[in-house]
Amino acid sequence: MREHALTGVTVLAVTKTIETLQIEPLLATGHRHFAENRVQEASEKWPQLRAAYPGVELHLIGALQTNKVRDALRLFDVIETLDRKKLILEFVKYKELLGKKQFYVQVNTGREPQKAGIYPEDADAFIAEARLCLPVTGLMCIPPVEEDPSPHFQLLTILARKHALANVSMGMSSDWQKAITAGATHIRLGSALFGARG
Ligand SMILES: *Cc1c(COP(=O)(O)O)cnc(C)c1O
Repeated sequence: MREHALTGVTVLAVTKTIETLQIEPLLATGHRHFAENRVQEASEKWPQLRAAYPGVELHLIGALQTNKVRDALRLFDVIETLDRKKLILEFVKYKELLGKKQFYVQVNTGREPQKAGIYPEDADAFIAEARLCLPVTGLMCIPPVEEDPSPHFQLLTILARKHALANVSMGMSSDWQKAITAGATHIRLGSALFGARG
């Protein structure tokens, strides 16, 4: 299913803090690509929504604790925040749940200590290691808020090409045009679709 044939870019509707009643109109139009940043919140909304609207692809775009890995696999189709060895080791314990899952490696392109993601200089080794154990199909980044995101987006695309990874998740409501220019395959839109979060 390709909803955006013009560009080939998939819009992930980011539904964190958004109530089911506000999500349903988008589902009713046929949109099926969504993202949440917290396992707990997703578990409160998405089992019911999935039952009512088949074909949803749900991405996890927030940091994941190892004790939530099993729940994450139950809820999400794509885990975009793989960024450390501990997580790899935890995921491989649930081989039976990995069937149709996809993983993106999160890269901390701005090397921000408070932010999740593998540092760029460690990315080659980490991607290679992760692929030995898990179906890694893409990369994801969240550039520093105070900087021009374009160099960060370009870095992520270069890394993805280098590793022949098909999916590049980058760009949010404020910078998605730049992300598409730099090669995004998935943009993550929250406020642009639902308005400012309270
Ligand atoms: C919230 C969030 C988004 C969407 O942000 P907007 O600025 O509302 O579009 C995208 N990616 C991640 C990782 C997020 O946490």
